Amino acid sequence: MPVVAQDRIRPAAARIARAIAVPTAFISHPSSLLHDMGPYHPECPDRLHAIGDRLISAGLDGYLRHYLAPEATAAQLARVHGAAYIATIEAESPDSGLHYIDPDTAMNAHSLNAARHAAGAVVLATDLVTRGECRTAFCAVRPPGHHAERNRAMGFCLFNNIAVGVAHAIAAHGVSRVAIVDFDVHHGNGTEDIFAGDSRVLMVSTFQHPLYPYSGTENQAANMVNVPLAEGSGSDEFRDAVRMRWLPALERHRPEIIYVSAGFDAHREDPLAGLKLVESDYAWVTRELLAVAARHAKGRIVSALEGGYALSALGRSATEHIREMIAA
Ligand SMILES: [Zn+2]
Repeated sequence: MPVVAQDRIRPAAARIARAIAVPTAFISHPSSLLHDMGPYHPECPDRLHAIGDRLISAGLDGYLRHYLAPEATAAQLARVHGAAYIATIEAESPDSGLHYIDPDTAMNAHSLNAARHAAGAVVLATDLVTRGECRTAFCAVRPPGHHAERNRAMGFCLFNNIAVGVAHAIAAHGVSRVAIVDFDVHHGNGTEDIFAGDSRVLMVSTFQHPLYPYSGTENQAANMVNVPLAEGSGSDEFRDAVRMRWLPALERHRPEIIYVSAGFDAHREDPLAGLKLVESDYAWVTRELLAVAARHAKGRIVSALEGGYALSALGRSATEHIREMIAA
């Protein structure tokens, strides 16, 4: 039966069957489940179960190639974080109990190990897509990273996972143009702090404003395309921002790899913010990014989990994001 006819009958199945030759990586590590900031903290280990369980129930888990995240090395972390900062995080790691780094961000005895593996996941993802072993990758890791600045932990983040991966692509693989896409509901102040003014790295983002961390709207560097959205904004406002602001900038930049700070807390069910995205918005934006990646980046997308605190909505949204990468 010709492929066109198959597509008409079972489009997703046919696309997935074609995609298996170069699979989507799913990278995680057991330490991501041991980093725990207390029983009432929204950034909790169950977030990863919500994603993993939903991938299984959607029938997608078998299409993923699973990898164990390595630790990021000291040298890999030092590409984006100051030596004194890294030493401080290492020194503040507690033997037991919780140690607060900022009012929102705590370390338990496993957090340092989890943070090293979370950054290492994005390094491995970078290696996999540059070697052609995988075309796309999703890093299901905690703690998240996009609030971590070069010299400051904040907002549930210790090391900036996406930034460590981007710096690795540039330093170890000779990649000269990278894009970072951040659709988390909070502005990725840490990523902006690390890459503002670096013309090799284009960052495009949407975020609710005003909202924590209250940054992203002033003194933007030329390589930052920040689109603040008012509380209550939904699919129409988000898609307009992507079409009118992100996509033209991405076409001009011609990234060789697209990185995604994949926070799903702009979902309408999320308790921490007030945007109104739904699962189909995450599927749509992923398809748009895959189209850019197909034109400029050999299809390569590296995505890493950031926020998303309504567990069911997180699982459904991440699954739609990953489904599109599998089917690309
Ligand atoms: Zn967030």
